[in-house]
Amino acid sequence: MLYAQVVLPLAQPMYTFSVDEALGVGIGDAVVVQFGSSRYYTGIVWSLTNEKPDYPRIKPILKRLYSTPLLTPEAQRLWEWIAEYYMCTVGEVMRIALPALAKPSATSLAELDERSIESPTELFVALAEELRSEEALAAYVAKYARRAPRRTEAMDRIASLAMERGSVDGFVPRRLVDADAVHIAELKRRGLVEERRAPIEPIAHVNDFLLPQLSEAQCKALEGIEAAHANRKVALLHGVTGSGKTEIYIHLIARSLAEGRDVLVLVPEIVITSQLVERLERIFEGRTTTYHSRLTALRRGETFLRLASSSGGELIVGVRSAIYLPMKRPGLIIVDEEHDANYKQTDLAPRYNARDMAVVMGHIYSTRVVLGSATPSLESYLNGVNGKYAYIELTERWGDAVLPEVVVSDTIRAVKRNERKVHFNLDLLTRVRASLEAGKQSILFQNRRGYAPYIQCRTCGYSPRCPRCNVTLTRHKSTDRMECHYCGYNMPAPKMCPNCEVQDMALMGFGTEKVAEEIARLVPEARIERLDGDTSTSERAFKSIVHRFESGEADILVGTQILTKGFDFGGVTTVGILNADNMLTMPDFRASERAFQLMMQVAGRAGRRNDRGCVVVQTSQPNHPVIRFVASGDYHAMANCELSERKAFGYPPYSHLIRLLLRHEDYNILHHAAHALADAMRKKFGARVMGPVSAALEMLRGEHRAEIILKIEAGASMQRARTLLREAVAVVESDTKYKTVKIAIDVDAL
Ligand code: ADP
Ligand code: ZN
Repeated sequence: MLYAQVVLPLAQPMYTFSVDEALGVGIGDAVVVQFGSSRYYTGIVWSLTNEKPDYPRIKPILKRLYSTPLLTPEAQRLWEWIAEYYMCTVGEVMRIALPALAKPSATSLAELDERSIESPTELFVALAEELRSEEALAAYVAKYARRAPRRTEAMDRIASLAMERGSVDGFVPRRLVDADAVHIAELKRRGLVEERRAPIEPIAHVNDFLLPQLSEAQCKALEGIEAAHANRKVALLHGVTGSGKTEIYIHLIARSLAEGRDVLVLVPEIVITSQLVERLERIFEGRTTTYHSRLTALRRGETFLRLASSSGGELIVGVRSAIYLPMKRPGLIIVDEEHDANYKQTDLAPRYNARDMAVVMGHIYSTRVVLGSATPSLESYLNGVNGKYAYIELTERWGDAVLPEVVVSDTIRAVKRNERKVHFNLDLLTRVRASLEAGKQSILFQNRRGYAPYIQCRTCGYSPRCPRCNVTLTRHKSTDRMECHYCGYNMPAPKMCPNCEVQDMALMGFGTEKVAEEIARLVPEARIERLDGDTSTSERAFKSIVHRFESGEADILVGTQILTKGFDFGGVTTVGILNADNMLTMPDFRASERAFQLMMQVAGRAGRRNDRGCVVVQTSQPNHPVIRFVASGDYHAMANCELSERKAFGYPPYSHLIRLLLRHEDYNILHHAAHALADAMRKKFGARVMGPVSAALEMLRGEHRAEIILKIEAGASMQRARTLLREAVAVVESDTKYKTVKIAIDVDAL
């Protein structure tokens, strides 16, 4: 008899099941087992043995799902690595890693069945039948070349490709036809060109793609990356905004695909997948597979299963969870905007960082890794400087574009001189107007959505707060409500103070909704769009806002963080950062790094084509070091200054922070538990333990929250630290008084 260790998608250890050899079950296979009294789960066979475990009742594996294993041995090692490092069970990794459709669970066995998966296709084009002879085409071209040069060129191109490639039926891959979509569409409309979809062609050579010509600087960077990979090093590509990192990625991708190997491109945010996928599809037509949580469950599941049975040569673009997609022959992993905090999962175990996992995958799969950013994280930068990664710098923008001029505009001085209109200094306002007059666009950044972050009674000082999260409620004007930005709780905006009943509630601070309203009043002739969590509730809404701005149907785009995410808008010449102060004053040791990254990224949206852009930073602290680094665009100065402080205080990257978050509805139980845990930890770690303190968000959805920070100096054994920490946590968890306290461990917390 054979026995299998099976992982189930639960916070549980693995269990053993017996295997009927007729099922043909192997390691990495998805199987159905019964667990609990009446529930059937999908599990993954982790290992097989002949040895009978010594417990009496061993349940059998009931059936095998899918004809191919879901997990390769490498993926198993990755899951184990994540579970160990981030201190959770492999089952918890499975819960996140497999989309619901690939791990069905049900109350009856009959509901669990295999699905059929379609293979991807790409577009092919051919000339209409009557034009396929050389004479017919020549006659047609001679007649129309003058009137429609682009279209006849495209037709010529199709014909010569068909000949070069010996295409019997005249069809050639669309991706190789160097012509704009409008021209092909027009040819199709006139019946001169036919299209059809067919299974994608295998790629044998980089020349099977039409690659962009690289500039000299880009070529050097590409060579640098390839040299790094030849030396089995991770490449950190530090390229200023607009330097054309994507074009370099495209060359690297083409080379891996031509080897028949898989490419994984990670992006930090769903919203930028579509812009990037569009750019990649123009070259790798039919090959890109997108993966993120806004896709339907069906799409996600089918994508996973299709990749599990693929034999390589896949191009995947996705957010952090895409690291779990099956790859048979990984050749390249790119982490774009590697500094972005979204790569870290924080709310649910495993609390992993996909950027760091990409580097781990580089080892496990022995494959190439590129981390790219205009503002690298200090962690990666330090690895670059000390030689652990190859550090490749691209300091100029592509083409004639140059980096924007940065103007620091003092808000206090502007008020004194009567040069401030509501939340706009004249410095900014005049530039916005000038851009508009020149037919150019402006971006206005404010990192709060809504109308006013809070309202306050002028008589008694009362501010309405979320009853479940204890944070101030944000005023939204369009809905006339107050909303909690953490849990979504909302209520009608009060007319009078709920506390002293005087009718004197004042709006405090300002969000994007208010900025958009004010700029509409100050520049009435401008067409304004707003991009934030309130306006882009669906992918369609989001895309249409971006499209209107991209196509010049809007002059000014007001928005939140979303604007910092790598957009490539050609017409923007002015960028305004409305309130830099609230970024500088966050109570977090990463505040300076974050503020710098955020401002540099928004600034990077200006002047990406021929016209030089201008960025106006409004602040009451014009001499703050971070503002000065932004003004001079000096990343290295910022990094060195920050690193020396981090070193002095033993913060990352000179240490690992492990954050323990405790939650409970009862304040007293919570705080006793937190103190008990901190005491148990101090016995093992001494002064490396900080806290407990109330968490930055003291209350969330009705639960009180406390946290303890453990600081492990770089170079010390993390494995030993985890063992000791597990012991300390077990002391508290085994105490019946604290049975209902939830403890979450976040390794390398951000
Ligand atoms: P980054 O990601 O480094 O900010 P992008 O890759 O978005 O920069 O490039 C900025 C702009 O310059 C894009 O519109 C891109 O198409 C263009 N560009 C960059 N390099 C090239 C190139 N070699 N050939 C053609 N266009 C390029
Ligand atoms: Zn709330």
